[in-house]
Amino acid sequence: MTMANEPHPFYNVGPGDIIQDTLDSLGWRQEDLAAITGLSVKSINKLINNKQQITVETAKLLGLAFSTSAEMWLNLDARHQLRKLESNTDRDKFVEKKAQLSRVMPLGEMKKKGWLLYDDSIEGLTKECLNLFCSEEIPPTYNTDSLEFYVRQTNINEEYTKSFSKTWYYYAKTQAKTIEIPSYDQKKLESLAQNLYLFTTRDKGVEKVIEALYSCGVGFFVLSHLTKTYLDGAAFLVEGKPFIVYTGRYDRIDNFWFVLAHELSHVLKHFQYLESPFLDNLDYRDSLSDIEKEADAYASSYLHTEQILEIGKDIGKYLTPARLNLLEKETQVSLPVALGILVHYKLLDYRQIMKFRQSVKDKIPPEYIKG
Ligand SMILES: [Zn+2]
Repeated sequence: MTMANEPHPFYNVGPGDIIQDTLDSLGWRQEDLAAITGLSVKSINKLINNKQQITVETAKLLGLAFSTSAEMWLNLDARHQLRKLESNTDRDKFVEKKAQLSRVMPLGEMKKKGWLLYDDSIEGLTKECLNLFCSEEIPPTYNTDSLEFYVRQTNINEEYTKSFSKTWYYYAKTQAKTIEIPSYDQKKLESLAQNLYLFTTRDKGVEKVIEALYSCGVGFFVLSHLTKTYLDGAAFLVEGKPFIVYTGRYDRIDNFWFVLAHELSHVLKHFQYLESPFLDNLDYRDSLSDIEKEADAYASSYLHTEQILEIGKDIGKYLTPARLNLLEKETQVSLPVALGILVHYKLLDYRQIMKFRQSVKDKIPPEYIKG
């Protein structure tokens, strides 16, 4: 005997079952219905077995034959089709998971970048989650966690910016975990910071400074930003070790030194806060926290910004070789970087320094570029 509360195996009753019941109650055979409606016996048989969808014409004929409304047959069929879809749980779960993940990460873009490893299926997406979050689901605090980072205040959906930035950070952590670095040496990093300006003028300075960072126990790599994140750089700890990531959102040498100096300040001065990441947008520096102001101030000192502004304040109209020479000699910072700083502080217009523009990505050895 079946217990009342035992779940019954699901049977999706379709219009075909009702047709058969009606035929039985009228004492008709399939052939009779065929003769009355003008439909073929084959067609009636398919309808009874729910193997053929009911068209408007068929619904009308069934209504006339059984003295019911045509709508009744259309509704029965529609409900039957819908239930068939609902019972397709794997596909439903896949669509649901995909929609859920799309709210916190640009799946298409990440796939294109090669950041997603698995195929487009429910199992694949579950593995991606395990890879990124170390759990099969998006962490419950995902959207509400506070993050130390600053977003452009106009024309963006802040919710996307935060979630996508966080996903970017999770992905960056998976890359950091694959990198071996010696233990952190704060004294050595302090001395590197004080000498940072010297690297800007050195031959292969970008490559050399990355090597120097590693020798201080600071990991460095490039990871491009994701749509709507507006990230320039980040600093965070992975397994107790500090990492600096550069996005190269602007592929310019001055931007590289500027971002590097900023993140370096976070590592040196804010190590105790690095467990939660610093994810920086360095374009918009209004309404900053004290900690960000502090990082900006240290970054400025490492790149001799005060001297650059002092010498550069009158330079605007007269970008003569002699003045440019003076700027570089006096500040000991390479010309593209010094000019970039003057543009940042609006003492020069970017168009004036176009010819000094230098790319940075071609100066970073490929082993440091993670995606
Ligand atoms: Zn910062």
